[in-house]
Amino acid sequence: MFERKPMVAGNWKMNLNLNGAVELVKTVADGIRGVEGVDVLVAPPFTHMAHVRKAIGNSKIFLSGQNMHWEASGAYTGEISGRMLQEATCTHVILGHSERRLIFGETSENIDLKVKAATFLGLIPIVCIGETLEQREADQTFEVIKEQLDLSLHNFKADELMRPSTILAYEPVWAIGTGRTATPGQAQEVHRFIREWIEKNFNTGTAAQVRILYGGSVKPENIVDLMSKPDIDGALVGGASLKGDSFAQIIRYNEA
Ligand code: PEP
Repeated sequence: MFERKPMVAGNWKMNLNLNGAVELVKTVADGIRGVEGVDVLVAPPFTHMAHVRKAIGNSKIFLSGQNMHWEASGAYTGEISGRMLQEATCTHVILGHSERRLIFGETSENIDLKVKAATFLGLIPIVCIGETLEQREADQTFEVIKEQLDLSLHNFKADELMRPSTILAYEPVWAIGTGRTATPGQAQEVHRFIREWIEKNFNTGTAAQVRILYGGSVKPENIVDLMSKPDIDGALVGGASLKGDSFAQIIRYNEA
C-alpha cells in the first residue's frame, strides 16, 4: 500500500498583524522542532509573506497563498498571480475555499482555471470542496461533492491527467469556524468517496497518492481520531492554526 505523508496546513485567512504573524510562525517552528513525517504548511495574508518566510529560517514549513488569479498578469485590480506567489517563495496555493465560493462568488469553473494555471507553474493546488448544512440535511452531500470535483477539476479530466502531488481538502461548510466537527466516520465516508472518484476518473496509482485533508474545526482534541481514518491524510486548520501551541499540538498528533 502507498504511504501518504500526512500534512497539517494552517489557513490564517485575513488575520494577524505583521508582528503577530512573524511571532506565530516562530512559535510554530519552535514547537515542531524534531518532528519528522508530517508536512507543515502555513498560508499567511499576502502582505506578510516575505516576513514570514524570513522568520521561518531553516525550519521545514511550506508557504502557501490563500488564493490566486488564473491569468499570468494584466488588468485585474486587487488580484495576485501564481508567478507572484512563487516569487514570494510559495510552493502551494489554496483554491476554492468555501469562503471564496460563498462570499466572493467563485464558481467551480473559476477554480478549474486556477487549478490549471497553478499546476502549469508547478505550484501545488490545495483544492477545497464541501457541502453546506442544507445540502447535507437534504441528503445531497455526495452529489454536491461529485459536482464540485467534476467542475473544479474539469481540465484534469479533459487531459486525463491529475498530478499525484495535487492536494484536496474536504471541508464541510457547516464545520468551518463553527466548533462543529464532522465525526471521523462522516469525514472518512466522504474522503473514501473522493478517492474513488479519483480512481474512476484517473487511475489507482493517482488515487493512492493524492492527499485528502480534512478541514472544519480541527483542534488538538479531535485530530487523533480524525487521523486514525485510512483516507484522512491530514488537516486544513483555520482557527486553531492562529495559536502556536495548539497548531504545534495538532502537528504532533501522533505523539499523543
Ligand atoms: C478553514 O477555514 O479552512 C477551516 C477549516 O477553519 P476552522 O478550522 O476554523 O474551522
